[in-house]
Amino acid sequence: MPEELKDGAEKRAPSGLSVRIFSAFGIPVRVHFTFLLFLTWLALSGKSSEASIYSALVVALFFCVLLHEFGHALVARAFGVKTRDITLYPMGGVAMLDSRPTAFQELWIALAGPAVNVVIAVLLFFYLLVAGILNMDQATNFDSFAMTLMIANLGLAAFNLIPAFPMDGGRVLRSLLGLALPDRQATKIAAGVGQVLALLLGSVGLAMGNFILVIIAFVVFIGASHEVTASVTRTLIAGHLVKEVMVTDFVSLQPNDLLSKASELSSSSNQPDFPVLFGDEVLGLLRKIDMQTGLYNNGPASYVAGSMKREFTQVSPEAKLEDALAKMNDQKGETLLVTENSVLVGLLTNHSVSQFINTLDIPQRQNGAL
Ligand SMILES: [Zn+2]
Repeated sequence: MPEELKDGAEKRAPSGLSVRIFSAFGIPVRVHFTFLLFLTWLALSGKSSEASIYSALVVALFFCVLLHEFGHALVARAFGVKTRDITLYPMGGVAMLDSRPTAFQELWIALAGPAVNVVIAVLLFFYLLVAGILNMDQATNFDSFAMTLMIANLGLAAFNLIPAFPMDGGRVLRSLLGLALPDRQATKIAAGVGQVLALLLGSVGLAMGNFILVIIAFVVFIGASHEVTASVTRTLIAGHLVKEVMVTDFVSLQPNDLLSKASELSSSSNQPDFPVLFGDEVLGLLRKIDMQTGLYNNGPASYVAGSMKREFTQVSPEAKLEDALAKMNDQKGETLLVTENSVLVGLLTNHSVSQFINTLDIPQRQNGAL
């Protein structure tokens, strides 16, 4: 049951595939639909009394995973880093931090999760000690439940401390390296260690025919390469402003333009989304998908105003690029309108951002620093 802690580099809107169940310490707790499927499967497979004890154990274990995530979130809060939400997946939990902690903060935030599981295990151990039944002969059902939960919590702590992304141990390793090395180099080394471990784990899994191990190895391997990409992007864009990246040569539409015109412009230009202006006032954004839906539902002779999106995200040309990208991720990669005193001065598109990152990246690659 790996769980992970994500930082601001991977900010995204709460997935539409998860539902919020409650909130604690001001942090929304969400469950992913796959987690609900998993619980349903557990409930359906629990016909005997043994199976119901097993289900109770799984529920208790997920409660411990939740406490683990709150461990991360509350220590992050102590450093002034907010947690956007906590989501439970069948594979574990994810606490989504709102911004990137420093190396020193990341160390303590990452350690806090496994520490919670160790504390739970110690409490259960004392319970078993006081109950005087560490020999399982006279153990009641509850005692063996407590015993299993204690071992599972120790397992959870140990597993999460494996020094590989996306496990907490990967972050601990990165933050320790980050105290001495630049972010990018620290991430690269930590990710490399993670990938080597993942390959070893995967080979062991294949040799033993244990496919759960193979799946975990795969998740770890992918997690490590995501971490490198995110870190490289973060390092590259740091200190850059929206105005350096925005497209100033763009086409806009009027609300009473026809969709046929939008369609022609869309095929003759490389612009995916069109701002819709009435005079100087920005009324909306016509995305390619809106245009296609509009053409399908209302035909080419309908007005742009009927298909445009009226909620759009605006950023200032002086805004930090990293903040703008976080907003863009929230909007699932939608074009942002760059406005100055409510006048449209540019567009920030996915394409312009990746082009900008590419131009920044080339010299570093040639120097072999990547
Ligand atoms: Zn964790």
